[in-house]
Amino acid sequence: MPSWKWATDEPGDLLDIAARVIEMHHAWILDYPLRFLWRDEARVKKSGTTTFATAEVMRGRTAWLAMRPEDHRKEGQEAGPAMFVIEVAMDTWSLLDDRQRVALLDHELCHCALDTETDGPPKMMMRDHDFEEFVEIMARHGAWEENRRAAVDAANRYDELRKP
Ligand SMILES: [Zn+2]
Repeated sequence: MPSWKWATDEPGDLLDIAARVIEMHHAWILDYPLRFLWRDEARVKKSGTTTFATAEVMRGRTAWLAMRPEDHRKEGQEAGPAMFVIEVAMDTWSLLDDRQRVALLDHELCHCALDTETDGPPKMMMRDHDFEEFVEIMARHGAWEENRRAAVDAANRYDELRKP
């Protein structure tokens, strides 16, 4: 059975790195309740892939129970209580280097979004990945579609910029 605890300021620098990433790329989220949760062991799916972290929106009673007084003050962006919760597996986090930790948190924060399309105040929501793919499909067919090409191009640009 996994166990959980709220991330406070224990060793592991999760909140420090999160603050850095939020300041750089996700500053809007500071106006919304967001909490970080440690899970002791990563979930390993039947397919064999390991879930390093997850992001979700908690709503209603669940969110209310998890909120701290300061979260209640931030709340009010929508009708009922809601909060973003990012859960990070402690065992896999400990194996990541700084760059990977930054990338992981940036990834989870990219899932956090606001629905501004529907009427009323912006509603906290989850955003899907730009694409999902099997490694073997990329191996057999390459970047066969626009979003996959954009991803490969972005990774190549990243490598290019960091060449000595
Ligand atoms: Zn994801």
